[in-house]
Amino acid sequence: MYRGCGRSSVRHSHALHKSGPLAQIAEAQHVLTPSLVAYRQLEMQRIGVNLASTFPGFCQKHEQLFAEFETTGHISSHRHFALQAFRTVCGEIARKRHAIEGLESYLEAYRRARFGYFAAAVQTVRSTSRIKSLSIKGDKLESNVSSKIKKAKASLRELEGELYDELFAYIDGQRCEPCLDVFLLPYEVPVSLSGLGSLQYEYAGKKHLALCPLGILPQPGSTVAFIGAAWRHAVLVEHYQARMRVSFGALNAMEAWLLHGSDHWFIRPSTWEALPGPRQLRILRTVMSVKQNIASFPRVSVLDAVRRQLIACVLDHLPEAGNNRDFILKCIREESAKLTAPG
Ligand SMILES: [Zn+2]
Repeated sequence: MYRGCGRSSVRHSHALHKSGPLAQIAEAQHVLTPSLVAYRQLEMQRIGVNLASTFPGFCQKHEQLFAEFETTGHISSHRHFALQAFRTVCGEIARKRHAIEGLESYLEAYRRARFGYFAAAVQTVRSTSRIKSLSIKGDKLESNVSSKIKKAKASLRELEGELYDELFAYIDGQRCEPCLDVFLLPYEVPVSLSGLGSLQYEYAGKKHLALCPLGILPQPGSTVAFIGAAWRHAVLVEHYQARMRVSFGALNAMEAWLLHGSDHWFIRPSTWEALPGPRQLRILRTVMSVKQNIASFPRVSVLDAVRRQLIACVLDHLPEAGNNRDFILKCIREESAKLTAPG
């Protein structure tokens, strides 16, 4: 994954460091992660921190790049953030390549089986006939999978192209900083995420789609959250981070990343188990759906304890609110409603 390096990778590179953000939320060395168990059926699965979030990534030498902040357990400098975002992008490239390979071999097997089916059907009618080739129009499954492959390839091009290039230029050569917004939040969240979200937007009369590397990295007493994009989408990242800075924006954005962004996240088992069953189902349904992107903030709570803690803190400071009192009370009502949102 490191450009120009020909050495083979260690077996398990971690997109999220196991002794850092994963250990922080693990219970008995395990975390939960959304995982596809059958067609369109998502469940939370238990996974050990040694195997969570791994991909065939870097060689022994380049693994050391991340040792800088892994050994201290604190991500604190611009370089650390860029390294973590780089690792996220590399992990996503590996996942995307793997997904494309899987889809392509699925499609090939399907076409072979379909050919066999028609060949056999023709033979039962006229045993002397042979089919040389077959052309089928309007096969929904085929067009569905083909369009998935096309989309995945387009994302892969963007990942391997400008997103990788801009992060690599900074990490390898200390050139131009990447387009990355980082938040240091004064509370710990019980989730870790390393993945991609997307944002669609209009700017200067044109439609754009930005792929955004995302990270949620809890550490003792605080959480680092970041969102990036290729530089040509900088105006969008700026707008998004402004939304994150007001009211419950950061919490809302992180929950949007979990529900409408990446499915590559991990949660502390007892946090998930404490959520009411109907809400768990609603969360999993939303994770499955591709209708929304990270611009829409969910109306349902995932991080209940953090939300309660923030609401209590805001209420404590209400006497200082002055003219903002009504606005703040409205936010509190909205945030409280998410704790009891129906399934
Ligand atoms: Zn290497």
